[in-house]
Order: sequence, then structure tokens, then C-alpha cells
Amino acid sequence: MSTATYSVKEHLERVRSGELALAPFIKDTLEKSESIQKKYGPFVTINNSVKAPTRKGALFGLPISVKDCICTKGLQTTAGSKILEGYVPPFNATCVEKIAAAGGMVLGKTTQDEFGFGTFNVNTKYSIPKNPSDTDRSCGGSSGGAGCLAAAADFPHVALAESTGGSITAPAAFTGTVGITPTYGRISRYGLIDYSNSMDKIGMIGRCVYDTALVLSVASGHDPLDSTSSNQPVPDFTGFVGKSVAKLKIGMPKEYFSEGVDKRISKSVRDTADKLEELGASIEETSLPLTKYALPSYYLIAVSEASTNLAKYCGLRYGMQEDTEGNFDEYFSKIRSESFGEEAKRRILMGTYSRMAGFRDAYYLKALRIRTKIIEEFRTAFGKYDALLSPSMPILPPKFSEIAKLTPIQVYGMDVLTIAPNMSGMPTLSVPIGKIDNLPVGVQLIANQFDEGTLMALGSAIEGFNGSHDRT
Ligand code: GLN
Repeated sequence: MSTATYSVKEHLERVRSGELALAPFIKDTLEKSESIQKKYGPFVTINNSVKAPTRKGALFGLPISVKDCICTKGLQTTAGSKILEGYVPPFNATCVEKIAAAGGMVLGKTTQDEFGFGTFNVNTKYSIPKNPSDTDRSCGGSSGGAGCLAAAADFPHVALAESTGGSITAPAAFTGTVGITPTYGRISRYGLIDYSNSMDKIGMIGRCVYDTALVLSVASGHDPLDSTSSNQPVPDFTGFVGKSVAKLKIGMPKEYFSEGVDKRISKSVRDTADKLEELGASIEETSLPLTKYALPSYYLIAVSEASTNLAKYCGLRYGMQEDTEGNFDEYFSKIRSESFGEEAKRRILMGTYSRMAGFRDAYYLKALRIRTKIIEEFRTAFGKYDALLSPSMPILPPKFSEIAKLTPIQVYGMDVLTIAPNMSGMPTLSVPIGKIDNLPVGVQLIANQFDEGTLMALGSAIEGFNGSHDRT
């Protein structure tokens, strides 16, 4: 049985009408997942006990993969870290609960950088996903498994992912898929293993804009279990797919087309802007001068929050535990030294330093004030423009051999285009715009808070240029 030619939309119709029986579909999907795992490695865990759902909602019979930092009842959840190996949550994250209530099926858990610390999904002791376009190259990170599976799946599927500073956009751009990073607070974080609480956002990666819009509509909404979740009304985001973009005003911030960005990528983004102009949108160059402060302040906020969040992994309550001699401090140090990876340790050290008495004001609190200024700069821009347009990533998907030569600072620098909108809580959408040297390229659209609908309208218009609508 082949399901490869069916889009998510068609698949859902076939299941609903009874044309497709779920039991053989599930069996086939699990077999395909095993072979994708052998080839590209997107999973930490494949859910071999997935069953046909009893609840018939908007996602009835749709396989959904879940990034491994999102808790799934009865299914190991490691956040990419050895310290959580064997942790099986007794509850579902709210977004997983909502997806299950709509009839979605949890297919498995996808691999990621440890706790989200990375841009290329190489910082993990679990599977390092290979790019389906070229297996010597990275899928991006930290939601690399989600991007990898969205690109490689020869069955209808949408991936649940997470972004703090760009972890949905990077893998979507590198794998030629669509990634929505919603407004901060749009989707409940209850059951998400924290990286940096004030910036973490759950989102999705799929094959086309429609698929991500559909799952976003189901997963969004206020949750009494997460006081930072928003009570803004949740529209049906699929209603924006295919909507006219004729009257939209779009700004292209010049800071996002600087020397550090591959010229060929900048050119294809400008070509995409020209095509939007042909559809009647107006395009204008603009400037966001505070962009240069985003990267250093993001990393200060991120490591400060991460280092406190990771303090709870002390070898007693979750995951890794050992018999030990000595006092608690010795035990705590031993288990953390053994179980955290190099990048996690680096961030714990940096974050602990930046929060020390005397440094807190100079670093963490100052970075928060800079963030407020950056949010204001975006708000001013959205007084003038409906959306902003830029490249998604400054480079094409790099080879693993090239990544191994980068310093940590150089890796952090790769987030230069995604950091400012992410730290401001603005929603972004990454959409594929073709290939350079046979490698995928993505465009990043940024909108004002809670205006994901405009992103969906623009994203689907851009998909239309490339003929990638054939899967909706
Ligand atoms: N690369 C960024 C970081 O390491 C973003 C990661 C993320 O969004 N989880 O912080």
C-alpha cells in the first residue's frame, strides 16, 4: 500500500470517509518510519504501540511526531539529554493532549540538540539526523529530527517542534519544509521541558503551509496549567491559506541581508519579494538598527534561564540515578558531570556566572531591557508593515565535517536572523523557496504578535510560486 501521494488534507478526507482503514495504514507507517530511521535517523523513539484513535476530531488518523522535549504519557521523553534517559512521563503536554483529543496519533519522539542547545542537531548522544537532500549535511537544529522527518516522510505527517531562538526555522530552511514558530504564549508550554521559559515556543514543521496551519489551530489556546499562555481567540488558521496578499505591505530589513548572509540566498529572497510584488503586495527596504544587540542579549537571557532550569536534574527526581557514596554535593557533581554534554555544561557555567550577585544587573537584567527595546522596534515596524521578509538562515545546510570545525561563538552566530523575532515573541514562518546547489533555501516571514494568519496567507502565496501546493 502506498500513501506517499496523499497530502495531509486528502489523507484526512480518506480516513473520515472510511476509504482508508487505519489499522493497515498504521502498520505501513511504522514500517516506513523504521526504514527512514535507518537512512536518516530522525527519531529517538518510534511509538510501536500507536493505535487507531477513538476520538474523531480534525486530525483523525493523522500521524504526528513529537520533539523529545515535549512530554508524552507512557513514551520516553529525554529532551535529547542522557540525564533524562529512561524518563517516561505520567502525563501528556497540553498540546499533545489537544492533538490526541482531535484524533491525532503520536508516531514517535524526534531527536534534538540536548535541551535545545544548538543549531545543527549535533549536540546529542542520541541520533544525529542526516539531511535527506545530502546525508553528509545537517538538518539544522535544535528540532533537527522534526525537520528531517517532515522532509523524509513518505506518508502524511506533521511534526511538533519547539523554538527558543530559531530551532524551528533552521531545520525547516535546511530540509526544504515549512516551519511555524507561533507567538510566545499562543500554545501552552505545560509539559514542555524548559530551555529558557521566557522565550520557549511550541510550533510545527510540515510539508506545506496548510498542514502547519491545521495543527496550529488545534494546538493553540489558553491553558489554565500555563499562566503565560494567551487567551487571545484562536482562528482557524487554514482559512488564511490562499488568501489574497494584494494589499499587504512588506518590509525587508537591510540588517538581515548583511555580508554574513550567503549572496545567493539573499538573491533568491529578493526574487521571492519581486514575485510578491507582482501579486500586488508592496515591498520596501527598511531598517531595524537594534538587530545587532539581539544575539548577545539572547544568549545572556537563554543561558541564565537555562542554568536555573537545569538545576533540577540532580540525579534524584527524574531520569539518571546511581548508587553513590559521599555527600549530596559529590553525588550531584558526579551525575551531572557524567550525564550532561559539553554544550549543556558550557551553558550552565555561563548562566551561573551571569546570575551571580553583582553580575545579575550588568548582564541578565540589562539583556532583558535590551529585549524590551527590540520588541518596541518590532512594534513600530508593524505599525507600518504587515510583515517583514528575510532569509531564514545565512548559510546553506553545512556538512558535518564543516560544523566540527566551528567554535561555539561561530555556531551562535548562525542564529543571527532568527534570534531577534524569537526573543521578542513575534511569530515567524519559514517557507522553502527552491534550491541552490541542490540544497534547500528558506525565506523567513515575521509578523506582529498573534498575527500568524498573515504569515499563512503570505507563506501559501510563496508556495504557489514554486508549485509546492501539490501536496495540499
Ligand atoms: N540555536 C539557538 C540556541 O542554541 C536556538 C535553539 C532553540 O531555539 N532551541 O539557543
